[in-house]
Amino acid sequence: MTTTMTPPTDAAEQAEHAEHEERMILEAIDKWLDRDVRDKVMDLEHADEYPTEMVEQMKELGLFGATIPQEYGGLGLSATTYAKVVEKISSVWMSLTGIFNSHLIMAACVARMGTEDQRRHFLPKFASGEIRGGLALTEPDAGTDLQAIRMRAVRDGDDYVIDGTKTWISNGIYGSCFALLVKTDPEAQPRHKGMSMFIAEKGDGFTVSKKLEKMGYKGIDSAELIFENYRISADKLLGGTEGKGLQAALSGLELGRINIAARGCGIASAALMDSVSYSQIRKTFGKPICQHQAIQLKLGEMATRLQAARLLTYDAARAYDRGERCDMEAGMAKYFASEAAVENSLEAMRIHGGYGYSKEYPIERYFRDAPLMCIGEGTNEIQRMIIAKQLVERHPV
Ligand SMILES: Cc1cc2nc3c(=O)[nH]c(=O)nc-3n(C[C@H](O)[C@H](O)[C@H](O)COP(=O)(O)OP(=O)(O)OC[C@H]3O[C@@H](n4cnc5c(N)ncnc54)[C@H](O)[C@@H]3O)c2cc1C
Repeated sequence: MTTTMTPPTDAAEQAEHAEHEERMILEAIDKWLDRDVRDKVMDLEHADEYPTEMVEQMKELGLFGATIPQEYGGLGLSATTYAKVVEKISSVWMSLTGIFNSHLIMAACVARMGTEDQRRHFLPKFASGEIRGGLALTEPDAGTDLQAIRMRAVRDGDDYVIDGTKTWISNGIYGSCFALLVKTDPEAQPRHKGMSMFIAEKGDGFTVSKKLEKMGYKGIDSAELIFENYRISADKLLGGTEGKGLQAALSGLELGRINIAARGCGIASAALMDSVSYSQIRKTFGKPICQHQAIQLKLGEMATRLQAARLLTYDAARAYDRGERCDMEAGMAKYFASEAAVENSLEAMRIHGGYGYSKEYPIERYFRDAPLMCIGEGTNEIQRMIIAKQLVERHPV
């Protein structure tokens, strides 16, 4: 995917140019999904096989640099266009979006919080897909409560030495580089002042201990990573200063939550559209089931839920694009769209009857994939707490 038109100058022209670019990108994604993805998903999913060929195609499409600024070799897509790309891909196979999304969160951490040397070193390689990876925050004893992590980085001359375990890390096996959250001062109060982030590439002392088996989200690797006496040069400390790790992780998660919302929309949309088609073909009591009121009620609710989820997702993405604080908007979008995915996939299963439960149809996959959207990038319990805190903060009495 290339975006090579000369940038226009005035606001109206800029908007038209952006719209044109978005259309070209979405068309390119549609073509790729139809030509190279759609028919292969079922086999890869059920074999839980890494989609190596598709990853190469995603590199060519520029997806590993989707939100990386153009000056560092990326496509520089707005969060809004990116959300639309993610929704499209997720409606065909959600797993694929995990391969570039956590990679792009790592890139967002470098772009927003890295030094200029770090940006110049890493971002072009991330954008081309030469270096791929993800975000390594979670540990066996700490997920939601990130400030409780135990991974320790100790300064030793020009290096740091890191020990500890990360778990559930997406792209842990096939990726080679991770935004790694550690404690540089475990005694610090408040705790986040002792947290830092490194851009850590695989090497001596950094091993994958196991692939984690999952209910859904097949094809993409989730792994436990072990660091034992892993030595990393101090110039890989993000931003060059200790104490900014949690801030970096949270800033990356805003984009991550918009992405999860878009994935939720993709699953909710696939569940709806499959149901709209199936209900016109399947007949009971002499007529297509879409003519039974009980099914119409389901379709009506599913479509409304999807539209509301999309609007919340675009609203959060636009706030992100304007550079505004958008944790409340991203939280609302992530919460609502992920629950919409869960509800629509269950309704699609009911509409498909026994076939909805069959591995010959994709409905059971939507049903297995959707709940992950409620957990990843901050659980939905936490999203509602973020929304409430922001409401109070924005409306003080
Ligand atoms: C397939 C998959 C892929 C993942 N990929 C990654 C990745 O790439 N990188 C990464 O770092 N992590 C990843 N994760 C981890 C994920 O981010 C965590 O699972 C998630 O943040 C929740 O943490 P936890 O599992 O430790 O649950 P816990 O934090 O133990 O939470 C358990 C329950 O308690 C609730 N809870 C916790 N605290 C509160 C509170 N204060 N108030 C109310 N309720 C609360 C939670 O909402 C949840 O319902 C992945 C997980 C999965 C399953």
